[in-house]
Amino acid sequence: MIESRFSRQIRFAPFGPEGQERLAQSTAVIVGCGALGTIQATLLARAGIGTLRLIDRDYVEESNLQRQVLYTENDARAGLPKAQAARLHLLEANSGVNIEALVSDLNPENADDLLGGADAILDGTDNFETRLLINDYSVRENIPWIYGAAVGSYGIAMPILPGDSACFRCIYPEPPAGVQPTCETAGVLGPVTSLIGSIQAMEAVKILAGRAPSVRRKIFTADLWTGPVRETAMPPRDPECPACARREFTFLNGQRRAPVSLCGRNAVQIHELRRPVNLTQLAARLEGLGPVRANEFALRFHDGEHEVTVFADGRAIVKGTTDVGVARGVYSRYVGN
Ligand SMILES: [Zn+2]
Repeated sequence: MIESRFSRQIRFAPFGPEGQERLAQSTAVIVGCGALGTIQATLLARAGIGTLRLIDRDYVEESNLQRQVLYTENDARAGLPKAQAARLHLLEANSGVNIEALVSDLNPENADDLLGGADAILDGTDNFETRLLINDYSVRENIPWIYGAAVGSYGIAMPILPGDSACFRCIYPEPPAGVQPTCETAGVLGPVTSLIGSIQAMEAVKILAGRAPSVRRKIFTADLWTGPVRETAMPPRDPECPACARREFTFLNGQRRAPVSLCGRNAVQIHELRRPVNLTQLAARLEGLGPVRANEFALRFHDGEHEVTVFADGRAIVKGTTDVGVARGVYSRYVGN
């Protein structure tokens, strides 16, 4: 059964039956189930990984469907959280994988809970602050992770092997300053995110199957519209790197916080008020004030001006503003403070 299901990759000699066995006992964490994350999750689940932990704070929207290959129109209509929707679809592809779906936002306080026990971490996020947090955790706990990013027709991927290769902070000591192009402002093409997610999944499979020496220690970049596809050598480790040399985990220790406003979107995330919300009760309370819809994971409410999505852990995304003050006001008006 196992033999026939995975026969094509087992037959690939450098992977082999031993690689399959080790993969089946491994755990990977995917941070962010957007375009990159859904490709990574699809490939790892189908390849027969043991445990896949999916972390995502957002819900499925129609504009995701062009590139986030796991989701369907039904998921968008139902407003399902991405982690939950991804889990359901992945189990249809391989019911033998243990899939933990966490509708949550990775931050310094929950990093141990969300990333602990991982054999590899895959980057499916859209911002540098979270990547620097993943890097701090990875270096501190000696867990390999695979960076990936895509915008427009351009993508980049790079494996980080703590204690061996340069770490992310050796290369990017600080988040880039100024306004960066985002998928919302500059667009993004599905083949690019699929390529980058595939490269990340490939390097993760090597690590999880006990084939880390085969990891390609290169920075891969590609522009699939204009042509150049390159691999450049990773720079050496920075002997002054705050993370891997001095072991100062600035982002993990919470001296720096992830931004409240969402990557280029006309929306703000409220995540500092952490306490569970009874979504059924809240739905009943909001009913007379505007259209409201709730499932067990999330509630969506529209007051005519703003759309508020509240998750069961108390976190919310307020759409229709980029003003943090306005979003906080909307939150306290309808959810409480
Ligand atoms: Zn470093």
